[in-house]
Amino acid sequence: MNSTEKRLRQLERILEVNLELVSTLELSPLLDRIVSIAAELTDSEGASILLLDERSGDLRFCTAADPQLSARLKEIPVPVHGSIAGKVLIERQPIIVDNAAADPRHFRQVGSQTGFLTRTLLAVPLQARERCIGVLEAVNKRDPGGFTQEDMEILTALAAQATVAIENARLVEALRAAYRKLGELDRMKSDFIAIASHELRTPLSLVLGYASLLQQQGTGGRELEGVLRAATRLKNIIETMLNLRYLETGEMVLYREMFDLRGEVALACETYRSMAEASALTIECILPETPLFVRADREKIRLVLDNLLSNAVKFTPPGGRVEVRAVHRPDVAEIVVADTGIGIPPEALPRIFERFYQAEDPMTRRYGGLGLGLSIVKELVERHGGRVWAESAPGEGSRFYVRLPLSTPDR
Ligand code: ADP
Repeated sequence: MNSTEKRLRQLERILEVNLELVSTLELSPLLDRIVSIAAELTDSEGASILLLDERSGDLRFCTAADPQLSARLKEIPVPVHGSIAGKVLIERQPIIVDNAAADPRHFRQVGSQTGFLTRTLLAVPLQARERCIGVLEAVNKRDPGGFTQEDMEILTALAAQATVAIENARLVEALRAAYRKLGELDRMKSDFIAIASHELRTPLSLVLGYASLLQQQGTGGRELEGVLRAATRLKNIIETMLNLRYLETGEMVLYREMFDLRGEVALACETYRSMAEASALTIECILPETPLFVRADREKIRLVLDNLLSNAVKFTPPGGRVEVRAVHRPDVAEIVVADTGIGIPPEALPRIFERFYQAEDPMTRRYGGLGLGLSIVKELVERHGGRVWAESAPGEGSRFYVRLPLSTPDR
């Protein structure tokens, strides 16, 4: 093979390996592949990669073609000032060393600690866009004539591709690490919610139990009513946090039964009537003449209605009106909870069903709540094969729509 043919063959080989390199997304196998290709292309005894350690400022061997040598090399930091690799890194120019033993720039500690004798060396920079991330070295050319200009060009071409592949793999690794961390944090949050809610639930049940007992005995008066109201609110908050966790972990099971939705809508309106009256609001419940049979989890549907009604009452100033209407639509039952309250700004409307989202600024908010109710509503309705959405404008009240598939009871 003449020298032109040889170069063509090498360039072909570089193109061949390019695809392999950029599709290797794990750093360690990628580096191993690069050094073995580097040794092959330059016909050398070995090759290695040194990457700049941003924290220490030293160069670190990441891999060498021989695994045993690689392990020993990894322990030796190579100073940027006082080594050939360092010079290549700083000047961003390749270097050929024909007689390493006699070269004053050579960092001798590597040889003395590993027993590996470097005779000739070719080092090229791993040059990313605006910075140099490390050095690729080929060591001991088999041909006694030493490394040539062509070797330098071919290794430089390989280094360019290797750098892109290394940067990609590093990005992918950083993303994977961030993703793992996020997953861990999410699990921690979920576990915390579970533990905190369980821990709170037991003492709270005792408070509620005693307070109810006192109320039945007719002692306590208005103060006791306040205690009961506050404890019930606390209980609802805890239930909301637990429901969120059940939904997140997939532990939420639906116990479906056939029932007439009108009964649940009427019940929910009754439950909120006294609360509404306390805030000088009226609640109107409009139901169709014919039943609205659904096969659904009654408790969960109650939770959906509770959340929508409590929001309507909460976000409507005194003197306002809440209207709950159930309607028969083709194949679906539709429930509309409409209020004459503060309404929702257009930029907030698409986000209100997200977890923890609240339209109000948390620093100046006037209304309580966890920002979880609607996200639970949405998941529950969708788990039932239904749909929920809202229409609203600031100052013009809000309308929440829930649609659930209708069923026919077995006769
Ligand atoms: P929370 O009510 O606990 O804040 P939700 O998930 O139930 O959480 O509601 C999210 C947000 O949507 C509320 O903080 C509020 O900004 C807005 N919102 C919900 N319902 C209404 C309503 N009927 N009127 C005005 N804003 C509402």
